[in-house]
This record gives sequence, structure tokens and C-alpha cells, in this order.
Amino acid sequence: MTIQPHPDRVIIFDTTLRDGEQCPGATLNVDEKLVIARQLARLGVDVIEAGFAIASSGDFEAVQRIAETVGTENGPIICSLARSVKADIEAAAKALKPAAHPRIHTFIATSDIHLKYKLKKTRQEVLDITSEMVAYAKSLCQDIEFSPEDAGRSDPEFLYQVLERAIAAGATTVNIPDTVGYTTPSEFGGLIRGIKENVPNIDQAIISVHGHNDLGLAVANFLEAVKNGARQLECTINGIGERAGNAALEELVMALHVRRQIL
Ligand SMILES: [Zn+2]
Repeated sequence: MTIQPHPDRVIIFDTTLRDGEQCPGATLNVDEKLVIARQLARLGVDVIEAGFAIASSGDFEAVQRIAETVGTENGPIICSLARSVKADIEAAAKALKPAAHPRIHTFIATSDIHLKYKLKKTRQEVLDITSEMVAYAKSLCQDIEFSPEDAGRSDPEFLYQVLERAIAAGATTVNIPDTVGYTTPSEFGGLIRGIKENVPNIDQAIISVHGHNDLGLAVANFLEAVKNGARQLECTINGIGERAGNAALEELVMALHVRRQIL
């Protein structure tokens, strides 16, 4: 199963087992994760983000066992998160090895506030790391997703450059996260439209979105994103996730189905 960009196809990417698990009190053991992953596959989600392989041995094992048992030829894509550093990418590739359709999801922050206080890197350094680490991930796995963390608060001109680099280095999906749940629907839709209009090689990648409910707007933001060209939605069951949670899978799917004529 290779997912091709199609104007009418919206890819459902479930991150219950990764972002959802970052919700206070939602810690799951490997067996519980396997049960959920099987149910997600039965539900027909396109991509399961199974964990963050480098984060702990439990996470590594969960990604590996889900890759083995749920990541079958006719099953979903199995994905592991990885920072844009070699050790993370290697751990993700190793854990995903048994999957028929593996995906490495690598990220680096692009907002000035993250560059200055978290990464302590210049914009030029972030551009270079993006090219280098996406290319490295691509050498280990064909299906690469790249996220510019805190995209919602990034300078759009810089964001366009980072995305162009990621796609040129082999990213097949570029995910735009509203990491802190700060944007409104019109702003988020505008951000996606800007990316479509200003990233020269954007037609070679699927635009994905990731959002949080700090202002209760994740689903509304995603519907605007779809109108403006996003074709992958990152969501969780019941919207569980960090802080106020993520976009809820069931709300998104039903909104897209019931109100498809207005989208
Ligand atoms: Zn998140």
C-alpha cells in the first residue's frame, strides 16, 4: 500500500499511542498499546504513530511489536517519531524493521523562540540539519514525514525554506503542527495556503496537520486546513493528548463525512 496524493483523499494518521500517551495518566504498557493498535487497524486508519522509539526501551519495544503484528502487507503504515538526530532516526528505523510499510517521522523546531531557547541554533543551522537528517532517514526508509515543530509560531518565510529543503531531501509528507494550540481556523487555513503557494516543490509531498485543543480549536483548524490543501490529519481517539489534547479522530472523520459538500 503506497498512499498517493489525491485531491479527494484525506489520510487519517492516528497518534493516540504517541501524542495521546503524553496525556497525564495515560501511560500504557506494551500489551495495552498492542490491543489499541489492533483496534486502530480494524478501524481502518491509514497510519499509526506507534511511539517514539528512542524515548525508552518500552517505547522501542512497543513500536517493534506493533510493526511486527499490525504492520502487515495489507495493514496500516507504522510510524515512529524521531528528533532530527542520527541516534533517534536509527532507533526508529530499527524498531520499524518488521513493518511492511514503515514510516520515519522526524522533526526540528522552526520558531525563533524554540531556536533561541530550546535548540540554541541559528536558522542556517536548522536548514542544514533538515537537509542532512531527512536525507539520512531517507537512506533507511522510503516513507519520510518531516515536521517543523511550532510551525504555527514560525516566521512563514523561514518555514517555506525549511519545507523546501525537507522535500528536496526526500520527505514525502510535511506535517504542519500548531504545537501549542494557539492558532485560529482562519490563521491556520492561511498558513496552509501560504505553504501551498510559496514552497516551490510542495506538489511532491502531502501536507499534513497536527494541532492541540488549548483554545478548543483543533478540529475547526483542521477543517480549514483541508479546505486549503491539507490531505493528512493527525488525530487521536477521543482527542486525548498533551495538555488540552489533540483533534479527535471521530469528530474529524464524521465532520468530513457528514459535511463533505461544504469542504
Ligand atoms: Zn502534539
